[in-house]
Amino acid sequence: MNVEYKIEAGTVLLDRTHQAVMFCRNVLLLSEIPGTLTIKIFKAIGGQDLLGDCTCDGIDAYEMRLWEQSLETIMHEMVHVMQYANYELELYLGDRAYWQGEMVFGFSYDTSPWEIEATRLESILVKNFLTFSA
Ligand SMILES: [Zn+2]
Repeated sequence: MNVEYKIEAGTVLLDRTHQAVMFCRNVLLLSEIPGTLTIKIFKAIGGQDLLGDCTCDGIDAYEMRLWEQSLETIMHEMVHVMQYANYELELYLGDRAYWQGEMVFGFSYDTSPWEIEATRLESILVKNFLTFSA
C-alpha cells in the first residue's frame, strides 16, 4: 500500500514517524497490499485519552489518525492496518465486530482480541525498530 500524510497546520511529521511506518509496512508484509494508507497528524490535545486510531473503508483506503507520534502509538495503529488489510478485522456501528471469521458482540477496549494483539505486537515492533535503526 502507498502511504501519504496530511499534516495539521501547526504540527510536523517527525522523520522517525515516517521511518517507523515504513518499517511496519515492511515487516507486517503490507508493501504489496493494494490501496493507500493516509496518515493524518494532529496537534496533541491536552487531557485527551485517544492518542491514535485507525479505520478502513472495507476495500483499499486505510486512514490512521495520530494525536502524538510515540513509537508505541504508531506501531499499535500499524497492527490495526495489518488486521484490516488481512481481512481479520471489521468494526461496525454499535458493539459489533468481525474478527478472524467470527462475529463478536459486546466487547470492550481491554478485552477485544484485536486490541490485545495490537498491544502485544506494538512492544515487539518498537523493540525491533529500535534495534534495526540503531
Ligand atoms: Zn488499538
